[in-house]
Amino acid sequence: MDNCIFCKIAFDQILTEKVYDDDEVCAFNDLNPQAPTHVLIIPKKHIASIDKLESEDSYLIGKLTMVAQKIAKDRGLDSGYRLVMNCNEDGGQTVFHIHMHLMGGRTFGWPAG
Ligand code: 5GP
Ligand code: ZN
Repeated sequence: MDNCIFCKIAFDQILTEKVYDDDEVCAFNDLNPQAPTHVLIIPKKHIASIDKLESEDSYLIGKLTMVAQKIAKDRGLDSGYRLVMNCNEDGGQTVFHIHMHLMGGRTFGWPAG
């Protein structure tokens, strides 16, 4: 989609080093990391937010999770990591192309403020 920064990253209109890439999903380091590992995992299909998901897209969420698991294993995050998907303004979403945050390399508390 025009003017979507994550579509541009996904289709290499903005060059960003990928830590994972296939036909449907890619992953890259967050510009403003909140942990030693902070990777964003996105579908290449433009879906603006979790509440715009259609049932036909639901497998993509599982795929994002499996890619997160693979990256975490590759990085040796055996003691744990956090996966986050923010939805809309009150959920803290700032980029309106769905993405999963994979954060690791430190401990996390709860609630997250
Ligand atoms: P959200 O707040 O929508 O859940 O997360 C958006 C994330 O995207 C933020 O953590 C922000 O640092 C990251 N981000 C925004 N623009 C860019 C960009 O151009 N490149 C990369 N690598 N990350 C970005
Ligand atoms: Zn997009």
